[in-house]
Amino acid sequence: MKLYNLKEHAEQVSFGQAVRQGLGRNQGLFFPLELPQLGDIDALLEMDFISRSSKILSAFIGDELGAETVSQMVDTAFQFPAPINKVKDGVYALELFHGPTLAFKDFGGRFMAQSLAAVTDSDGKITILTATSGDTGAAVAHAFYGMDNIKVVILYPKGKISPLQEKMFCTLGKNITTVAVNGTFDDCQALVKQAFDDAELRQEVGLNSANSINISRLMAQICYYFEAVAQLPKAERKEVVISVPSGNFGNLTAGLLAKSLGLPVKRFIAATNVNDTVPRYLQTGDWSPKVTVPTISNAMDVSQPNNWPRIEELCQLKGWGLSELGYGAVTDEQTAETLKQMDAEGYLCEPHGAIAYRILNEQLNEGETGLFLCTAHPAKFKEVVDEILAKDIPLPGPLAKHNAMELLSLERDNDFEAVKAVLRSVQ
Ligand SMILES: *Cc1c(COP(=O)(O)O)cnc(C)c1O
Repeated sequence: MKLYNLKEHAEQVSFGQAVRQGLGRNQGLFFPLELPQLGDIDALLEMDFISRSSKILSAFIGDELGAETVSQMVDTAFQFPAPINKVKDGVYALELFHGPTLAFKDFGGRFMAQSLAAVTDSDGKITILTATSGDTGAAVAHAFYGMDNIKVVILYPKGKISPLQEKMFCTLGKNITTVAVNGTFDDCQALVKQAFDDAELRQEVGLNSANSINISRLMAQICYYFEAVAQLPKAERKEVVISVPSGNFGNLTAGLLAKSLGLPVKRFIAATNVNDTVPRYLQTGDWSPKVTVPTISNAMDVSQPNNWPRIEELCQLKGWGLSELGYGAVTDEQTAETLKQMDAEGYLCEPHGAIAYRILNEQLNEGETGLFLCTAHPAKFKEVVDEILAKDIPLPGPLAKHNAMELLSLERDNDFEAVKAVLRSVQ
């Protein structure tokens, strides 16, 4: 598979190069030159998760890595299920939180680690640098933990992620270094971009990004959209509407890619919190990011979503109008209200999933089947969920273990030189 740079179409790279580089020249995102067709979708939906996912990913990268390698990568990366759970008639939760860090980013993070290992010579130096607004950090840290020749540096906004989220990835040590930055997530993201722009530094430490801009992550995420539809009763597969709680819009990009491969989805809904750059853009045609506001769905506190150019490109290539996308933005009060409503309906959720559920309910029409993505386990947002629902939800095993460990993060100002020094010191 060849990919091209969305900012400089003349730059074309292999999958291996795209995975290693993360971003292209001028900070451009990579995008597949050809979108494969998968043929008989009904037959594909009959397959089990691993076999089907291997087939989907082989259609992209089998030519470069070999189908055998791709299926080994899938087998190692996807060692947990993505079940759907009926919340009420015609509405299903797609639970993406059954991996080691209890969030959907485990799928992308683990497949990214496999991809990078598959495309790098054993003597190549690699430093993963990523910014996280919550869960990417945990997924990346756990996906690479203990891989001796790969160093990982993770930046996050100090005090702006949940204490439990912090414990999940800032307690590991070994090849994982975490940095609490005095700033916002957008600041962290800007620092990462700055580092990638520094050609000398990039070369010196073998910089590599592992956040949602890496194409391997998006490709992995395509697979659970197929898995979701495959689990629906056949009678309910005809008019599927999928609501995606969105921050950087990687998840929605993957969903639209799944549709481009032939997955029957009638409509997607872009669901955000009050950091609503995209819903406002879809409504007015005006792209005007505001200052990022902290919310209880903090993994979506992003006002400059960096995957958006891929969505524009894909829609343009497929001739899909942006007006076909559903959208909506939800306040913290509404999120809390929805969590209570869901609890009364017998489904324990957390703020991100609740936002997707609320907008889905508002916009689902007669005869349509709704799916909403549950991107994290409720216990990952325990403080918020406990308070809203007046409960004390138990911590699942992996969280309890990390919660008892000591934080190992460094603290740094929002300053590129400081980050550079950290990158050099971990070598
Ligand atoms: C990262 C994240 C999101 C947002 O996903 P994007 O792909 O960045 O749009 C939503 N919910 C949770 C829990 C997350 O960690």
